[in-house]
Amino acid sequence: MRLWSRTRAGRRRMLCLWLLLLALALATLAFSDLLYRDQNHQKAPAPPRRPLQRVPSPLDLEVIVDSRDPALELSNGLSPLTSLQEDQLLFVPSTLGGKNPPQRKGTYKLLLPGANKDSTVPAPMTHGESGKAAKLKLEGLERDVEQPAVQKYGFNEVASERIPLQRRLPEARHPACLKERYSDSLPSTSIIICFHDEAWSTLLRTVHSVLDTVPKQYLREILLVDDLSQHGHLKSVLSEYVAHLEGVRLIRSTKRLGVGGCRSLGAARAAGEVLVFMDSHCECHKGWLEPLLERVAQDRTRVVSPIMDVIDWKSFQYNATQWPVRGVFDWRLDFSWQSSPQLQKNDPSSAVQPVRSPALGGGVLVIDRHFFQSVGAYDPGMLLWGAEQIELSIRVWSCGGSMEVVPCSRAAHLDRHHLPYQFPDQELLQKNKIRIADTWMDAYRKIYYRRDTLAHFIRQSESPNITERLKLKKTLGCRNFHWFLTTVYPELYIPQDRPGLSGELYNVGTSSCADYPRGQGIQGGAMNITPCSGTGNQHCDLNSVGEVRWGPMGAQCFDAKGDRVVLSPCPAQHQTNSKLQWKYIKLSGQLVHLQSQLCVEAVKDGGLPHSDTAQAKEVSIPPSERGLFLRPCTHHPRQQWHFEQLVAPKGA
Ligand code: UDP
Ligand code: MN
Repeated sequence: MRLWSRTRAGRRRMLCLWLLLLALALATLAFSDLLYRDQNHQKAPAPPRRPLQRVPSPLDLEVIVDSRDPALELSNGLSPLTSLQEDQLLFVPSTLGGKNPPQRKGTYKLLLPGANKDSTVPAPMTHGESGKAAKLKLEGLERDVEQPAVQKYGFNEVASERIPLQRRLPEARHPACLKERYSDSLPSTSIIICFHDEAWSTLLRTVHSVLDTVPKQYLREILLVDDLSQHGHLKSVLSEYVAHLEGVRLIRSTKRLGVGGCRSLGAARAAGEVLVFMDSHCECHKGWLEPLLERVAQDRTRVVSPIMDVIDWKSFQYNATQWPVRGVFDWRLDFSWQSSPQLQKNDPSSAVQPVRSPALGGGVLVIDRHFFQSVGAYDPGMLLWGAEQIELSIRVWSCGGSMEVVPCSRAAHLDRHHLPYQFPDQELLQKNKIRIADTWMDAYRKIYYRRDTLAHFIRQSESPNITERLKLKKTLGCRNFHWFLTTVYPELYIPQDRPGLSGELYNVGTSSCADYPRGQGIQGGAMNITPCSGTGNQHCDLNSVGEVRWGPMGAQCFDAKGDRVVLSPCPAQHQTNSKLQWKYIKLSGQLVHLQSQLCVEAVKDGGLPHSDTAQAKEVSIPPSERGLFLRPCTHHPRQQWHFEQLVAPKGA
């Protein structure tokens, strides 16, 4: 009994000691936080500390954030940026090494890098270090690169490792940009870089590129947000590396959040007035941030993007994108950058003038922090990856903001060969798009569902939970999709999709469908005949002016080139071109080219090359000879067509 009570007393003493230690740690933390904030406001950050001379400060802390964190929940119109609550933190001194597993309390745990140390730490790159040096320092991480270099990441990782972590991109700005002057008091910025299993070289090149190009007075912090990466090099090695970089913080999520969720988490932790969301494989140009900040400072509801240049996935060569360029999306809700000289005005100042953009990509996106929160951050219902930038774009425009590409700012994004992620759910992208269609597109959503039949079937069996988003839409007083289409994006063709005159173009004689093979550019190539896909990607629309509109943009039209049916850009609105006009005769199934009065005939492997020559033998047709041809009209089944609508989405 006495033994027991002695132990109890001892335990109590131990507990008191621990509590005292804890209080001390918290006090140190709070004090150093104050100090840090203060310093940060007054002068540029000090040079990086040497390893093992670190003083605990928030810069050194790696925050592991539980994604159920209430700070992430948005209350409309209010900033959800509740700062870390002291009683939710637990501080684990790093000197204890890897023996003590990180403890947790409340919704956070904090630990110093060094806990769970499992490999040597490459020291931060100093300016101008060569690729070889970088490579040497990365030895030990190589174990991770077991799969072929391209397979693993969707780009040539070996090429990436050969080039320095710090490289300067060639000047690509218009000469007029170099004369532009920006305000001296631009807002402070948090740069949020989310990553999931990013390669070491591309991730660190992104970070160094920001550090090398952003003036210190505007950089509040770089927030690296780890979206539950598994790769070894992104664990303690990264923590250590980052701990030596001034102004860089690392947050780790305990749950896979996906692109939007991860960015919202970063935003909730950010302190800068303006947020920059940046992919974990980017490189910035000199002077990229100032033109963007200036535009946002002038109007806090403006969301802006640099011109996104392209880093080649194979060679890592940098390719400048041609101005003018803007972000768009099509009726399958896929995003693309559209470089179109038509946007260029004759006015010489247009080289420096931002261009309004119906949508912006996610590579580098700049938005005022309060505006981002009040407009509803990223839709938390969006799964892992895909279409979140389209959702944000429609919402920003519809709910009082605007978007533009700023030509005097350039950043490069690594365009991968393929997506490297394994998705637990093959229908994930469709589910994200369904949220967009049902939340934002009103009756126009039918146009989407006809072009993405998988989404239609998913939608039939389950409804998305969009109650909160509809509430947000109402509270913010957002405009409808008709307004968006007519005011923001009038260039997008609105398909008529009349029954019997739109859908897959099915050929009776070959039991196949009209198709446009990928790989011959978006226009100019010949139409082909291939098995019907049933997915909606072969959808076309014969409209009331006689154009057969093809493709998810509806911007390509059936045209005649010699005896072949090819795709050409459709005429501008309210203009017609008689060469692009067709007539469909329902009774015979013939599709007639109006100008030549010839009929469309499908020629497929093993078919008859010339239907009008009775003696023609069945022959194997080389690919170049297959496709849609113009021939004198007959009643041959290969000249019989049906427009088949695959699904019948419900109206609004
Ligand atoms: N990302 C993430 N969680 C995910 C998927 C992606 O944090 O589940 C990160 C990714 O590392 C990248 C950014 O989000 O920094 C955008 O993703 P990605 O580059 O794959 O999109 P893409 O450029 O291909 O559209
Ligand atoms: Mn990317």
